Amino acid sequence: MTHPAPAPASSPITVPCPACRTDAHTPLHAARDRWFDGPGTFRYARCASCGLTYLRERPAPAAMADYYPPDYVRRGKGPAWLLRWFRARDLRRRVALVRGLAGAGGRVLDVGCATGAFLHAARTAGLVIAGVEPAPWAAEAARARGIPVWSTTVDRADLPAAAFDVATLWDVVEHLDHPADDLRHVAASVKPGGWLVVTTPVLDGWEARLWRTRWPGWDTPRHLVVFSRSTLERTLADAGFRLSHWTYLSESYLLTALAISLAAKERLPSPIARGLRFVLHVRPVRLVAQPLFRLLDRALGGSWVTAVAQRVDADADNAGGDVGDGVGVGVDGNGNGNGNGNGNGNGNGNGNGNGDGDGDGDDRAHRAAGSEG
Ligand SMILES: [Zn+2]
Repeated sequence: MTHPAPAPASSPITVPCPACRTDAHTPLHAARDRWFDGPGTFRYARCASCGLTYLRERPAPAAMADYYPPDYVRRGKGPAWLLRWFRARDLRRRVALVRGLAGAGGRVLDVGCATGAFLHAARTAGLVIAGVEPAPWAAEAARARGIPVWSTTVDRADLPAAAFDVATLWDVVEHLDHPADDLRHVAASVKPGGWLVVTTPVLDGWEARLWRTRWPGWDTPRHLVVFSRSTLERTLADAGFRLSHWTYLSESYLLTALAISLAAKERLPSPIARGLRFVLHVRPVRLVAQPLFRLLDRALGGSWVTAVAQRVDADADNAGGDVGDGVGVGVDGNGNGNGNGNGNGNGNGNGNGNGDGDGDGDDRAHRAAGSEG
């Protein structure tokens, strides 16, 4: 990749815990934008109070768009029919899960719906749909498909109370400035006994343990919080949802393909790194590799999980336990500052709802890992 000259990096900001606002923390590793070489070095921390791992030193909100370049959403190489098959399969899995929870004719809210690929498929399956999408261009594209969309952030959307059978966040929660607050807003719009489905990378999966600070799920600085199963479960509980179960819908092979691609990009001559990246991401390889990774995810606990949680009665006591991440992350502190950024961002104000430029829900599944080269 070639890049224009770095954009003038505005100073990073330092934030307290996005969930509980506690400032006390354990510093974790520093990291830079490994995939797009955006400017700056940022640092993670684990909250001393609630245990959440978050990007403590992060780009200022106005600078966040610089980290979502136009090629944020990428395509694998290989036959087009196979890409359509991947996309259709991912949508089918999502719709099947949600339709099973919502029941025939159920009402579904997709938060961060992008251009509406999932909602379009859900409607085709007989569900009643609505979306929230802060990126104006994406919201407009969803509306053009006849999808009702609140074109704002979820905390500002005038959502009806207790109206939806299922709310979904597909690879969105890790991009939110205040995920705990936003999930409370979502909870208010879900019927008691209704459901929440959240897909996100988690720290305690086998890929995260294997790759540690080089795990692509960090996706610095686009992922502002990185949950573990326990911190996600407690965040859901605090918002009013009781975890039902974890499942794996995403093509987790891509996390490993991306991890190897990034390591190669940093250590090998670029033609070799590009060739390796091509081989790892070529669609037939993905097709063959993914069943193995599904087995590994189920046996060892994968890093790209889908949490299924049920809305509890508003009166119920849903205080979570006091658990931390339980995952040590090595502090290597090596984030060198020679980013040659490509400050031509097309992102929106809060770094959410990017990608999906051609109305393809598959892309959003993969953007959690910034993947699909
Ligand atoms: Zn906290």
